[in-house]
Amino acid sequence: MKIGVLALQGAFRAHADKLSELGADVVEVRRPSHLDAVDALVMPGGESTTMSMLLESSELFDPLAVRIDDGMAVFGTCAGLILLSTEIEDGRPDQRSFGRFDIAVQRNGYGRQIESFETELETTVTDDPVHAVFIRAPRIVRLGTDVEVLAESRGDAVLVRSGNALGASFHPELATDARIHRLFLDSVAS
Ligand code: GLN
Repeated sequence: MKIGVLALQGAFRAHADKLSELGADVVEVRRPSHLDAVDALVMPGGESTTMSMLLESSELFDPLAVRIDDGMAVFGTCAGLILLSTEIEDGRPDQRSFGRFDIAVQRNGYGRQIESFETELETTVTDDPVHAVFIRAPRIVRLGTDVEVLAESRGDAVLVRSGNALGASFHPELATDARIHRLFLDSVAS
């Protein structure tokens, strides 16, 4: 099984390292042909407006939308979560997303003065809390009915699942352990 990491921009290397640590066969996805080789895809944090533009200029957007609509397992973190949502508040007018999660996100929704924060997060999928780093994180401001909340922080959902799609508004690739990545790999294998 090959796990793709969208490698156009942003924090893709840390994801690739976590996945490799877990024994996954990682492929960096930069061109449409790279997509053919992968069974699942991680979409990293970074800048969602830039990623949206690069997805178009690399001609990855449309084939990736087809794979996502066909049910490929995906894991989006931070900007990657923005790219997987149906509605984006405070985005660029031409910013596109894949609508895999029926959620609305507000970009940089935790405000400028607290652009970054770290917390220990209780989740429904781990025995102990996970260390969560939020960096100019999107805030989930609406949740569709088929979206399962796996963790909340400050009253907001921050780790969500919908079928084989997993999304985090924080950066699990910056945690000291790899439990959230393991959860994703388990969903790909099942
Ligand atoms: N604020 C960024 C965006 O809108 C996301 C930040 C991140 O991925 N760390 O894309």
